[in-house]
Amino acid sequence: MNKKIAACGTRKDRLYHLDMAPMSDIAAVASLQLWHERLGHVNVAGVKRMIKNKDVDGLKSNYMVVKDICEPCMYGNAAKTPMPSAGGVRVTRRLQLVHSDLGGPMSEPACGEALYFGTFTHDFSRRTDVVFLHKKSNLLVKYKKCLTRAQLHTGNKIKVLRSDKGGEYVSSAFKALHDEKGTTHQTTVPDTPQQNAGGCHQDGGLHQEPRLQPCASRRKDAS
Ligand SMILES: [Zn+2]
Repeated sequence: MNKKIAACGTRKDRLYHLDMAPMSDIAAVASLQLWHERLGHVNVAGVKRMIKNKDVDGLKSNYMVVKDICEPCMYGNAAKTPMPSAGGVRVTRRLQLVHSDLGGPMSEPACGEALYFGTFTHDFSRRTDVVFLHKKSNLLVKYKKCLTRAQLHTGNKIKVLRSDKGGEYVSSAFKALHDEKGTTHQTTVPDTPQQNAGGCHQDGGLHQEPRLQPCASRRKDAS
């Protein structure tokens, strides 16, 4: 016997239901569950309909049974409770809440040999400023520049800066700046994307290298 799979089975209680098919018709041994998984956990009724109507060449199954509980579907359908936006208060004006994150080191230096980058995402407008840094400790200087520019531009003050508990954000210099400017620093709980940049804004998190334009920002029309 060579190592080709000729049949696959599905366990139901203590029995394996073995799906047999001729080698020439190997696609048919796939169960409905397997097709559901192969097609990225799409709606089972839709897969059944496609098989029944022969909508797709090669999409056939001789075992039209699915698991009672499909784990990936179960996790995918579980809803997470949204986190409050700014200390439980809905954001209604510019600079009321700014999310910040620090990333790097990057595999390739960017924008004048910078290995790190910081972002400032304005919750209200979704504008993101990206700054490139030679070292992490330069974040404070860049933040001051962004803050000054944004405050001048909007006439508002940054009320809440939200970040993780990374060393740069909790430094005494950063704390002193918050005290001086009257800004509240909120820290996020690890692995809660709902708290970071208002949810799904920064897809993949910022521990990846930025895909934004260097030293630029998205949505230049607002901040
Ligand atoms: Zn599924």
